Amino acid sequence: MALAPFFERVYGALGGHLSISRQSLTLALAKVVVGIRCGPNPNENDIWIAELSTNLLARLYPKIAISGPDEKLVAELCKLALEINPKIGLVKSSPDSTTICIGSAIAEGAIFPSASGWVARVNHISSQHDGPSNPYSAGAAAALACADLFRRVFLKSEAERDVSVSLLNYDESTGANLKLADSDIGNVLFVGVGAVGNAALWALSRDTQIQGRLWLVDGEEVTLSNLQRYALTTFADVGRSKVLLGQVALSETKLTIETMQSTLEQFVETQGAIDIPVTVISVDNVEGRRSAQAMLPRLVINGWTGDQALGTSWHIFSRDAACLACLYHPHGQGTSAVEQAAKALGLPHDRAALLWVSRQPLSSDDIKIVANSLGVKESVLKPWLNKSLGDIYTDVVCGAVPLDVTGVGKVETVPLAHQSALAGILMAAELVKRTQPKLAALSQPEPLISWDDVLRPPPLIWGKPRAREKGCICGDPDYQSAYRKKWGVPD
Ligand SMILES: [Zn+2]
Repeated sequence: MALAPFFERVYGALGGHLSISRQSLTLALAKVVVGIRCGPNPNENDIWIAELSTNLLARLYPKIAISGPDEKLVAELCKLALEINPKIGLVKSSPDSTTICIGSAIAEGAIFPSASGWVARVNHISSQHDGPSNPYSAGAAAALACADLFRRVFLKSEAERDVSVSLLNYDESTGANLKLADSDIGNVLFVGVGAVGNAALWALSRDTQIQGRLWLVDGEEVTLSNLQRYALTTFADVGRSKVLLGQVALSETKLTIETMQSTLEQFVETQGAIDIPVTVISVDNVEGRRSAQAMLPRLVINGWTGDQALGTSWHIFSRDAACLACLYHPHGQGTSAVEQAAKALGLPHDRAALLWVSRQPLSSDDIKIVANSLGVKESVLKPWLNKSLGDIYTDVVCGAVPLDVTGVGKVETVPLAHQSALAGILMAAELVKRTQPKLAALSQPEPLISWDDVLRPPPLIWGKPRAREKGCICGDPDYQSAYRKKWGVPD
C-alpha cells in the first residue's frame, strides 16, 4: 500500500468533507488510479498545469500514472511526485475518466485543463488553447481540474459543465490574449507562508517579469502534516522554516526577498512603524487579519479557506466597500469566524461571540462543552484553559496542533489540497492585478471573490459585493483621516 506518510492529515481533510471512515477511505484510495497524460510539444502553460496537477494529486492519491511523449517532462513529473510522497505508486496507465489531459493529449471522457493569458479553462473534450503564458491562470486551471477529478472520484459526480474564468474580472474571456508585462509590485509585506501562501508563491515564482521587494513573515516550520496541502513542500522539507522555503522558491525571480521568521505581531514590535504599502495576508487567525488592516497599508490582499469554501479579497481603505476588518468583524454576516468557531467547537453562538469580542479566557465550563462536542477527554484540552477562543479554534480546528479527533468528522475543517492551492493562486493574481493600473482597470470592482462549496462545480458568479460593516474601523473618521494622510489620498 502506498498511502502517503502524512495519511493521517489526508484523512483529517477528507473525513471532514465526506463523512467517510478511515477504513473506507483507505479502501477507496486503494482502488483509484489517477493520471496525468501529457501531449506532444506542451507550451509553457501546459507544463505549469502538469506540474501543479501532479503536485496536488501526489498529496492525496497513492497511485498515479504519468505519461506522454516528452520523456524529460514525464521524468521530472515522476520525480516531483516521489519527492512529495516517497511511497507513491507510479503505474503505467490510468482509466480515461480519472485522467487529466495536458495540452493536446487525448482520452475519452477525461478532464482537459488549459490556460491562455488571464483565462483558466477546464473542458471535457480535447480542446487545445494556445495563448500567452500565465502561471496564475495555469495554476488555477490545474487546481480546478483537480477539484473536478476529486468530485468524480469521491462524489461520483455526473459530467460537469465546462469552465472558463478570467482571473482579471471573473467573466469568461477578459485578458485571454493579454501577455504578462514587466511590472513592479513595490514593497510587499507577505504574512503567512501556510497552505494558501505556498500556492501564491508557487505562482509568483513562475512569473519572471515582476520586480519588487517581498517581506515573508511566518514564525513556523514545515511539519509532516503540512505536506497534505502545501504546494512548495516535499518530504525533505519537514523541519525547514516556512519563510526560507518561500525564499528558495522565489530565487529565480527578479523579486528581492527578505525573511522574518516571526508572527506579524513580533514583526511589528521589532520593526516599529510599518510603512510597507501593500500587505498580502493568509494567516490562520482572525486577529492577525484585523491587525493587518488596522496598520492601514495602502492596499491589503487577503486569501482564505474555510469549511468547503475558498476565496480572496482586496481592500483599499478609503474605498466605499468592505475593508478587511469588515470581513472578520465579530458581528459580520456569512461565514464569520465566530460562527465557524461556535459551530466547530459546539459552543452556543452568544457565548462564542462574547468570548471572541472580549477576548475573555475560556472557562472550565467552556472546555467541558468543547471536549464533549469534539468527543475528546477534557484533559486533552487542558492546555487551552484560560486561553482565548481564537487560540483553541486556530490550534484545534484549523489544525496547528495535532489532536486525535478523528471519528468526529464534523469538526474537521482541514482544507483539501486543491482548495488551498486555488485560494493562494487567486490571492497572487489579485496582488499582480491591483499593483498594475492597466490590469486594475480591467479587474472586478467587488472586494470579495469566493467559491463557497468546492464539493460542487465552480460558481458562475465569483465576485461578491460587500458593504462596510457597521461599527468597523473603516467607518471611523479618525482612522480614515489617518489613512488619507499616510498615503496622500485626497478627502
Ligand atoms: Zn471595515
